[in-house]
Amino acid sequence: MEFETIIGLEVHAQLLTRSKMFCGCSADYVGAEPNTHVCPVCLGLPGALPVINRQAVRYTIMTGLALNCQIPAYSKFDRKNYMYPDLMKGYQISQYDLPLCVNGYLEYEHDGVRKRVGIRRVHLEEDTAKLVHANDGGVGYSLVDVNRAGVPLIEIVTEPDLRSPEEARAFLMALRQVLRYLGVSTANMEEGAFRCDANISQRTRDGSIIGPKVEIKNMNSFRSVERALAYEVERQRAALQRGEQLIQETRGWLEDQGMTVSQRTKEYAEDYRYFPEPDLPPLFLTEAEVAEIRAAMPELPLARWERFQAEYGLSPQESALLTEEREVADFFEACLQGDRQRAKAVANWITGPLFALMRERGLSLSGLGIRPEQLRQLVTLVENGTINALTAKDVLEAVCATGKDPETIVAEQGLAQVSDVAQLRAVVQSVLEQNPKAVADYRRGKSAALGFLLGQVMKALGGRANPAVARELLEEALQAPVD
Ligand SMILES: [Zn+2]
Repeated sequence: MEFETIIGLEVHAQLLTRSKMFCGCSADYVGAEPNTHVCPVCLGLPGALPVINRQAVRYTIMTGLALNCQIPAYSKFDRKNYMYPDLMKGYQISQYDLPLCVNGYLEYEHDGVRKRVGIRRVHLEEDTAKLVHANDGGVGYSLVDVNRAGVPLIEIVTEPDLRSPEEARAFLMALRQVLRYLGVSTANMEEGAFRCDANISQRTRDGSIIGPKVEIKNMNSFRSVERALAYEVERQRAALQRGEQLIQETRGWLEDQGMTVSQRTKEYAEDYRYFPEPDLPPLFLTEAEVAEIRAAMPELPLARWERFQAEYGLSPQESALLTEEREVADFFEACLQGDRQRAKAVANWITGPLFALMRERGLSLSGLGIRPEQLRQLVTLVENGTINALTAKDVLEAVCATGKDPETIVAEQGLAQVSDVAQLRAVVQSVLEQNPKAVADYRRGKSAALGFLLGQVMKALGGRANPAVARELLEEALQAPVD
């Protein structure tokens, strides 16, 4: 039997608003003392009334537009009723039948292939409180931290268009990139600002067997999404092949054990007794309002990736490296200041030495502290021959360490490269005298000896020799007749 995997995702992303969804409490709660970002509204006290966060609505529409959704003129909030200790009011304010954004798609490149995944809807809701499970001498109990309750949350629901765990992971990374470009979410999975549940099922290609949809929860990283789904593909296929009846259920991923376990049978919408939220007005959106939001949107990753290739002649790979994060893409263009001739050199400096420094120090580009003008100046110093590429890397580190401009560092430390022929010739002469063996090797046809001798010249000048001139003088001296 040949099976096909069908995957749809539900992604929750916290929005980067200053205040919570329905009250004035700060939404920036990460690292705060428990239960300090609270008020009667987000504590769910009787009689407290919610007020819609305008910025959260705007961010949701931006997300919808970036995902090519339609933005209906009329939308509303609904109460989703269920009993769980993380829900302060006994219901969650969410959106049921009339979400803010519908019928879109996300287009992205993965491994050189253009993908398009349907987006069924994007709706706006509030996050729940956080439960901390503890154990005191064998007695288990749970603590409730309400700081997270009421933080604006968008739910993005895809069509079941994904066909493998690997595709699901690639889609999530592309989606995260879009949210970060928009600046609407940190989309940080480790901090819980970006969470994913998956619906996965199997069917045979001839349609003779169609397995039930199983929902997978508790996947806390891109890697665990891929692992959990791969596990589930195998589990479902093996069961169907044995002729077992699978059930529609929710299963949790156990990271340590590398398996999913049944949690409960799947709820249906009617279990939640949705009804329109009586304490909030519906949302009416005019075309002009949506057009204004659209006009203010930044260029999105796919468009920028294409433009970098067309405008700067970069390869797809270089362009992907530079556009992966908006901060890096912005930095690159700020370095160029419209000077396309420099594109290749600047791209090489960013994806080479700068990325290496970021990796080495575990910092983002802004964390390194170098400004675009400074990298531009550094590239200029190399291009006009003031310093060689070797010295430039040291200067780059010094810029990041001190914040000083490359020109200042070169002047203060006397790093300008030595191109003066007379000075270089003297050094070449003394290197040849001190290394008779290498000289003899070279003259016997061992051309590798030249590299060694060039290295010695560099060393004698603290790495500042102009390599092209030094090489030329070395060759000239070695070819001179032997005394
Ligand atoms: Zn509050």
